[in-house]
Amino acid sequence: MSGAARPGRSRTSFFVRPDNGCHRQSSKRTTRRAAAACLTQAVIILRGGRVVDPGTGFDGVADVLIEGARVTAVGPGLPTGAATVVDVSGMVVGPGFVDLHSHVNSIAGQRLQALDGVTTALELEAGLMPVDRAYAQAAAAGRPLNYGFSASWAAARAQVLLGHEPDTSLAAGLAVLADPGWQRSSSAPELARWLDLIGGELADGALGVGVLMGYAPRTDPAEFRALARLAAQAGAPTFTHVRELVEADPTTPVDGSEELAIAAAETGAAMHHCHVNSTSRRHIDRVLGLLDRARSQGSRITVEAYPYGAGSTAVGAYFLDPDRLGAWGLSPASIVLLTTGERIADGDRLRQVRRADPAAECVVEFLDEQDPGDAALLRRALAFPDAIVASDAMPLIWSGQPRDTMRWPLPPGGSTHPRTAGTFARALRQMVRQSGAWTWLEAFRRCAYLPARVLDEIAPAARRKGHLGVGSDADVVVVDPHQITDTATYLAPVRPSVGVRHLLVGGTFVVRDGELRVDALPGTPVRGSAH
Ligand SMILES: [Zn+2]
Repeated sequence: MSGAARPGRSRTSFFVRPDNGCHRQSSKRTTRRAAAACLTQAVIILRGGRVVDPGTGFDGVADVLIEGARVTAVGPGLPTGAATVVDVSGMVVGPGFVDLHSHVNSIAGQRLQALDGVTTALELEAGLMPVDRAYAQAAAAGRPLNYGFSASWAAARAQVLLGHEPDTSLAAGLAVLADPGWQRSSSAPELARWLDLIGGELADGALGVGVLMGYAPRTDPAEFRALARLAAQAGAPTFTHVRELVEADPTTPVDGSEELAIAAAETGAAMHHCHVNSTSRRHIDRVLGLLDRARSQGSRITVEAYPYGAGSTAVGAYFLDPDRLGAWGLSPASIVLLTTGERIADGDRLRQVRRADPAAECVVEFLDEQDPGDAALLRRALAFPDAIVASDAMPLIWSGQPRDTMRWPLPPGGSTHPRTAGTFARALRQMVRQSGAWTWLEAFRRCAYLPARVLDEIAPAARRKGHLGVGSDADVVVVDPHQITDTATYLAPVRPSVGVRHLLVGGTFVVRDGELRVDALPGTPVRGSAH
């Protein structure tokens, strides 16, 4: 049980232990003060669960001791002392899920994700700008889960190419994606200016760079390579929604997934391929083969997938042009507006809604989950070695508008893509409970450990996440292995998953006994420290 404390050791210094999250002592005086403060911090023992730690490979029955915001001991028969003891026998205890791809950025959306096992929800594909203000707003409003943002390539380009002042909102960011003035290539001075803006965002604590290349897929590939060089120099990962594949658009300046592989090889940048399922669709085997070769040759490429056959985006997206849908075997009827539930009747209606409200969220049916062949494609994306589970969770909408709410249970009539509420529980149901494709250890590796490792270089504090070693952040999920399942559907998408028994964020219960704690907003920022 390497990495887990021996039970005997935990007896000797129950409250004060270096780096236990209660204190940072630098002298005897501060140690005493910290020890006193520690006594007021929650001390919790999760007793007798099946502890699964992808950091050490440990999988066995043990107790987990949490003091303040950290895990301070893991082992059998830990002494109770003053701890609150929570019996978790029969349950699986692991590190909370780290979602690299969540657009919810709201209390309501994060609560749904909490009941899906997520303890850290990061907006890394689109990013938000200015990132400093995005962090300040999240801190002021409070968050149930840990949060963080990347630098927004889209917003930096919008500022330079269109003169749009960034305002940290995803909605404004989505609206710009349909603007031909934004979709064009940059001149050399423009490129230099937006690269400079992104460098500034990284200096302000962004967790890398989010690149929505798929929404400006005719731009000069030299722009992407320049961005990759900047990221490599800064030690910052990129998170890319790749541009069109060559099968869908033989005239594309470069195949989207190949572009990422080439840039990673040329620059040494750490490059994350977002939702490989939705950008590859029926070409998944070709794309996974390409990424596998690139990884085996040493490129720092990571890959994520989610277990749904439909995507979700703004209806004005480049790739939803009525004249482009046929290349993917889609039609306007493959698109359903989330705001109204309207299934688009024909090309004329699609043109109309794209003109009227290009930022309107919609669901796009890429693959048929009921078709065994299509379901197998989705399974292969998830099963790819080291593929990370990430939700692409979308903002919640009521009465046609994305908004947040403190109400819980959530008000009726809410809309989103079901992946917002159900991605992780669905992955566990399909890959662990139903098919046995993943062990619990493998599931926690893909849902918690591997995503946290993507951030190790840019955010050294992330090294305490994604595992349950002594000194790790007390971001912990307790799952009922016989119950865990998604319940959200395309028709009823705002329905929490079932089977997350407890969820702690920084040592505070956000879910206890299966119930969401409405008073719990313990989320803290995960920030970058680019060099
Ligand atoms: Zn995307």
